[in-house]
Amino acid sequence: MSTEIADFIVIGAGIAGASVAYELSLHGKVVVLEMESAAGYHSTGRSAAVMSENYGPALWSRLVTASRAFLETPPDGFASVPLVTPRGALFLAREHEQAKLATQADELRRRGATIELATAEEALRFCPVIKATQFASALYEPDCKDIDTDALLSGYLRVLRSRGGQLITSGKVTGLKRSAGVWKVSTPTTEFEAPVVVNAAGGWVQEIASLAGFSYRNVVPFRRTAVVFDPPAGSSIHTWPMTFDVAETFYFKPEAGRIMVSPVDMSPSEPCDAQADELEVAIAIDRIETFTTMEVRTVKHKWGGLRTFAPDHEPVIGSDPEERSFIWLAGQGGNGVMAGAAAARLAASFALGADIPSDIAALGITPENVSPGRTCVMDDSGTLPVVGNLESLE
Ligand SMILES: Cc1cc2nc3c(=O)[nH]c(=O)nc-3n(C[C@H](O)[C@H](O)[C@H](O)COP(=O)(O)OP(=O)(O)OC[C@H]3O[C@@H](n4cnc5c(N)ncnc54)[C@H](O)[C@@H]3O)c2cc1C
Repeated sequence: MSTEIADFIVIGAGIAGASVAYELSLHGKVVVLEMESAAGYHSTGRSAAVMSENYGPALWSRLVTASRAFLETPPDGFASVPLVTPRGALFLAREHEQAKLATQADELRRRGATIELATAEEALRFCPVIKATQFASALYEPDCKDIDTDALLSGYLRVLRSRGGQLITSGKVTGLKRSAGVWKVSTPTTEFEAPVVVNAAGGWVQEIASLAGFSYRNVVPFRRTAVVFDPPAGSSIHTWPMTFDVAETFYFKPEAGRIMVSPVDMSPSEPCDAQADELEVAIAIDRIETFTTMEVRTVKHKWGGLRTFAPDHEPVIGSDPEERSFIWLAGQGGNGVMAGAAAARLAASFALGADIPSDIAALGITPENVSPGRTCVMDDSGTLPVVGNLESLE
C-alpha cells in the first residue's frame, strides 16, 4: 500500500471538512478523506440552507454572527454567484412563550442584529398563510438569508485545490494510529500520514474517535425529516420568510417554487444514509394544516438527514483531551452550514496551536465551553445545562 504525506488530514468532506481544509490550506498541505464518491452527500446536501442569527443554542448562534461577513462578502474569486440571498425569518410565539421571545430579541439586539417585533396579526404581512389566532406575537429577522450550499462547498474545495490541497473521494478511513508524533490514517487503497488530524465526519465523528482509540464523547446523530409540497395556487411565495414557531414544533420556507416543511423531528439514529420517516411526514403535514391555511395535497419530495449533537447541543470544537493533535469539528446540529465559516476558523486555530480568533473570542467563546472534553450532563428535570463560561456580551 502506498503512503502519502501531508501536514493536516481532514476526515469528511461535508461543509465542516471542506471549510476547515480551506482554512488550514493557508498553513500547509491538506488532504481531505471522504468515504462517499462525492463531497456533501450526507447532512450538508440535505439542509434547509438558511442562515439565521436567532437559530440554535447560544454558542452556535454566536458563531452564525461570526460567519455572516464571510457568507455575505466572500473573498474575491471564491464563488461566481452570491453565497446568500435575502429570505427573512419569522418566529411565532404563543401567549405563554412571550418571555422566551423577549429574551431572544434582547440577545439579538446585543449582537447588533436587526429585528422587528409584531403581533401575530401584524405578522401576516410577512407570511399571509399563518393562522394568527394560534399565536400571540412574532419576531421578524430581516437579515436571515438563504445559503447556496453548493456554491459554498465547491468554493471551499476549489480554493483548497488551488492551494495544493487534495480531496480524496471513495476514501473511507478504516484505521487511525499515532506513533512517533505522526498519525497514520488508513483507507482501503492508501495510507496517509500527518502530524494533525481533524475529525469532521458529521454523524460518524464518534466512530472516527473510537477508531483512534479515544474515550466516548457522546457526540451522536439524530434524524430530521423534510417534506416538499405545492403552495396554494396563485400565491407569490418567493417573499415569504422562513417561518418557525418558538416552541420548535415546525418550520417551513419557500424552496424552488414549492414549500419545504419540517416537523423538526429529532430521533436518535445510527450514522447512516438517513431517509424520511413516514410518521414524521404525516406530522409535518398536520402541523402545516394546523398552523397555516395551506393544505398539502401531494408530497412532491421528502428526505431525511442527520444532525449531530453533544448533550448540551453546543459546539464540539478543539483538541481531544487525550491527544492535542486530534481536533474535533463536530456537534453542529442545525447550524453547520450557517455557522461553518467561523467554526472552521475556530477549529483551525486549535489545529495550529494558535489563539482563538479575536472576533470569536469577543463573542464569549472559550476553549473550555466548546471543548470535546467538557462535561455535559442533563440535570434531573431533563434540562440541558449551560456549559463553560457564558459571559454576558455587555
Ligand atoms: C433537514 C435538515 C435541515 C437543516 N437545515 C439547516 C440549515 O438551514 N442551516 C444550517 O446551517 N444547517 C442546517 N442543517 C444542519 C447541517 O446540514 C449540518 O449541521 C451540516 O451539514 C453538518 O456538516 P458536516 O460536514 O459536519 O456533516 P456531513 O455533511 O454529514 O459530512 C460528514 C462527512 O464525513 C464523511 N465520513 C464519515 N465517515 C467517514 C469515514 N470513515 N471516512 C471518510 N469520510 C467519512 C461522510 O461521508 C460525510 O460526507 C440541517 C440538517 C438537516 C438534516
